[in-house]
Amino acid sequence: MVIHSAEFVISNTEVDKCPEPKLAEYAFIGRSNVGKSSLINMLTNHKKLAKTSGKPGKTQLINHFIINKEWFLVDLPGYGYAKASKTSRKKWGLFIDEYLLTRENLLNTFILIDSRLEPQKIDVEFMEWCATKGLPFSMVFTKTDKLSAVELDKKLAKYKREMLKQWEVMPPFFVTSSVSAKGRDEVMNYIAEINVA
Ligand code: GDP
Repeated sequence: MVIHSAEFVISNTEVDKCPEPKLAEYAFIGRSNVGKSSLINMLTNHKKLAKTSGKPGKTQLINHFIINKEWFLVDLPGYGYAKASKTSRKKWGLFIDEYLLTRENLLNTFILIDSRLEPQKIDVEFMEWCATKGLPFSMVFTKTDKLSAVELDKKLAKYKREMLKQWEVMPPFFVTSSVSAKGRDEVMNYIAEINVA
């Protein structure tokens, strides 16, 4: 997908104040510091569309961007930062639940997973929650440039083994790096395919 334009639309915590749901939209979510802002900037070829901070847990808003004047890219707040993770998803934001459950034009949620880590309970629980609610999602493994090819294969194999203990099939997944732009075409083609489906 060629990016002709990528513009910020609005940030808020209220689903009612999100842009009218007239265009398809795709959300990005993950634990704080997973590399979500970097991924969004990489996908949209924009250095500063989403803010990269290095200071996790700061943005607690639903951020809408419009891409090519055709679809919305939505940057959702990071979850599970530091001590807040104890309270798990509940305190992290009922408005996010409401957003995910009610936004009728939301076609897919990309759940970002740090490829270097062991499967994290909070991520697996969130995916299970999406599945029970019938929300379409895919996994995006981030920061894969930080692993050698062999290490990456091992981590992915381990993740698949863990997932397949609970799941019949592995959800769709993408292997990405915001440094090398690996996985960009795959994610963007996936978005384009769903958009016309
Ligand atoms: P967010 O909190 O999920 O939005 O994460 P950021 O995009 O701000 O990234 C957190 C940190 O990880 C920053 O220091 C980024 O430079 C770094 N980072 C993010 N993505 C990548 C990646 O693909 N490769 C490498 N090597 N570093 C990354």
